[in-house]
This record gives sequence, C-alpha cells and structure tokens, in this order.
Amino acid sequence: MRFIVALLIFFLTASPAFSEEITIYSARMEQLITPVFDAYTKSSGVKIKFITDKEGPLLQRLIAEGADSPADIFMAVDAGMLWKAGDIGVLKPAPSPTLKANIPSHLRDPKDRWFGLSVRARTIVYNTKKLNPSELSTYEALGDAQFQKRLCLRTSKKVYNQSLVAMMIADLGIEQTEKVVSSWVKNLAVPVFSDDVQVMKAVAQGICDVGIVNTYYYGLLMAKRPDHPLALFWPNKEDRGVHVNISGAGIALHAKHEKAAIAFLEWLSSEKAQNLFAEVNFEYPVNPNVKPYAKVAKWGTFKHDTINVENAGKLQIDAVKLMDRAGYK
Ligand code: FE
Repeated sequence: MRFIVALLIFFLTASPAFSEEITIYSARMEQLITPVFDAYTKSSGVKIKFITDKEGPLLQRLIAEGADSPADIFMAVDAGMLWKAGDIGVLKPAPSPTLKANIPSHLRDPKDRWFGLSVRARTIVYNTKKLNPSELSTYEALGDAQFQKRLCLRTSKKVYNQSLVAMMIADLGIEQTEKVVSSWVKNLAVPVFSDDVQVMKAVAQGICDVGIVNTYYYGLLMAKRPDHPLALFWPNKEDRGVHVNISGAGIALHAKHEKAAIAFLEWLSSEKAQNLFAEVNFEYPVNPNVKPYAKVAKWGTFKHDTINVENAGKLQIDAVKLMDRAGYK
C-alpha cells in the first residue's frame, strides 16, 4: 500500500502531463482549432479547455473576470484585435526565445504580448473572363479610371478592411491613403457587401470584375465551386508588397498555467504544428521554415508587407475616421 501511494505521488508530481490543463479564450472558430488542440493533447498530455466567441465579448469577459479569470491564452484572428488586447492590459509578455526564433518580428508584438501563428493575406481577386491580370498592379490602382464601376468591396465596418487601411496609412501616410480610398469608393460597381464570400460571388457573376479579399475565403469557396472564373492577384510587387494580417495569441494577464500556456504557443509556432494550424483554413504558416500546403502554394508566392502588424491596431481609429471621410460605408 505504501508503495502504491509512493508511486501515485511520484506520478502526480513527476509527470506534468498527468494534471496539466490550460484554458483558452478563442475568437478562432471551433472547427479550426479543435483538430490542433486534439493533436497537442495527444502529443503532450496537456488538456485544453476552451470557449469560443467573437473578439469583443471575449475581451470584455477577460476585463470583467480580472484576476479570477480562468483564461491562460487569448486567441484572435486579426492583428488589430491582438494589439487592442495588449493595449488594454489583459495580456502578459512572454519573452520566449523559441517564439522569437519561429515568428518573424513584423508578425508579433515588439513587447512580446502577442504572437502571429498564421498569416492571412488580403489581396486582389478578379474575374478571369472579364479582366486580364496585366491590367492589375497595386491596391492603389484599383481607384484608377479604368476600374470605374468594376470594383466590389466588403464593408469598412469589418476589422479586416480597417487593418488594411491602417497598414496603408503606416506605409503611405494619411493624405495619400485617403485619396486611394476615395478613388475606390468612386469605382464601386454596387454598394459594399457584408462579407468576403459575397464579394467573390459578385465578381464571379460579373456584377463587378475585381475585389479585395482574404485568400482563405478564396480557398474555401473554390474548393466548393471550382467552376467560378476567379483568380488571385498579388499586388504591389514593386514596392511594399501584399497586406498581411495574422491569426495569433497571447498569454492572459492572470494566467494560472503560464508555463504550460507558453509551451503550447511554442509548439504552435514549431515546424511540426504550423501547417496543422494554417492548413485547415487555407492560411499561410508564420514560421518561414514551413512551406504552405500544396493547395495554397499553388496560388503562387508573393512579397509580404513587412511593416509590423501592430500598426493595424495603433492606426485603427485613424483608419475608421479616414474611411468615413472617404464615404466608404
Ligand atoms: Fe475571416
């Protein structure tokens, strides 16, 4: 009996896998994260509890719960949102050399409060029957006279467009960006759409010829509708490159399992887990040592805008005001 008790104590104390558990508040959709969580539990023994919701309510919850919060990790699908979480003080820095080594510096917080785990490119999509890609060049050029009544856009209320415009402000300045956004609005074929899939459907139907979308929506739609005459175009090859955003995570300020939570983020950034995280949603790995999976690689390579994605958050208010002035609904 004494031996069994000793053995039990040994296992309970010596094997972290025996009792370790982390809690994640995730704005990344459940069907995208459960395969990743399951794989981690299988390989490490660490159990993962999670709740999923939109970013806003999750942040409110973190604030309201304060020190009593069970959350160890906050996961979000936009750099602006991660920046906001860091800025309001619900995240704790995780100065991990592994995370720094695996994630390029423009895709994580300079203060180590959040880290990109997959790259989301927001690029140009066009109708292959109505437009020759030689007509395309930059995001800015979509405001040129040749695209009059040929452009479709998603609403400026969506954070993805706020991040796109915020990053343009970081690159081009307010004045230039406002000119560009105003010229887009003038070129709209129809009023703005509520999501990226509707933009692509309108382009496919010839309601307009060109739009701006996140590439994973293109991947998801084309998997269902390979007959759609749609293709992606990578703009701004000669200058700043394609606007990239991230899906990522940070350690909650009051994390009760900080070490285990950091270890999980390190694993997510590792070569073995990167495609597992990105692939389910047709996204790109953040870790430069990992190649995107075949279906995504097929879309070609592109130059990334390497200005830190924190600007998506820092300049978000400026972006929203600018889009309002430009009449972008
Ligand atoms: Fe999305």
